[in-house]
Order: sequence, then structure tokens, then C-alpha cells
Amino acid sequence: MPKKRSHHEFIYHKTNALEITRQRLAHFNKTYQFKIHKITIKNQSTRWGSCSKKGNLNFNYRIILLPMHLLDYVIVHELCHLKEFNHSKHFWDLVAKILPDYKKVKKEFKKIRFYK
Ligand SMILES: [Zn+2]
Repeated sequence: MPKKRSHHEFIYHKTNALEITRQRLAHFNKTYQFKIHKITIKNQSTRWGSCSKKGNLNFNYRIILLPMHLLDYVIVHELCHLKEFNHSKHFWDLVAKILPDYKKVKKEFKKIRFYK
């Protein structure tokens, strides 16, 4: 995608992406009750989301272009990194609390670009 078009798309979707992300995070965090510091929507070309050790969560605005169950996977995945800063068994056990089917969803992500 040309850079300029991507930037326009980003501006166009950013507010909406933040709104949906906040809603879904609040919803899933009823279960986890983790402390979320800051939520930022970014225009990244290599990842769907990331989490910093300070408790900041970053999401790619493109998550709102995903089907809802994939969007939810990104949200839950990054939310669980607030507790487990790795992909250990503990991490996946946390993810499975909300998404027992997460392995299936992970496979779907392999068909689209950039999820790690
Ligand atoms: Zn991860």
C-alpha cells in the first residue's frame, strides 16, 4: 500500500479504532483486571499490536478492518502480555481463559499478513 494512502486511512480510522479498542479492552479486562497504563493506536506495517513493560498497549489501526473474532484475539493477546511478557505456557493459559479456541484463531492469522 502506498505510504500516502496508508496515512489517510490511518487518520480516517484512528478515532474509531481507539474507541473500539477501549471498549473491547474494558470488556475483557473484567476477567483479568490488569492495570492498563496507556492505549495508543499506531500506523504500523509489521505488527497488529504490542505491549511495553510500563503497561502501555499499542494497536495497529488496521485491527478494525479485521473480522471481530480476529480483532478480539489481538486485544486479548496484548492484554495478556501485561501479565506475562512472553509466550510461555502461563501466557497461553491466560489467553485461553477468554479464548479457548485461540489455536484455531492463530492459524487464521497465518493466512493474513503480520501476526507474530
Ligand atoms: Zn505476543
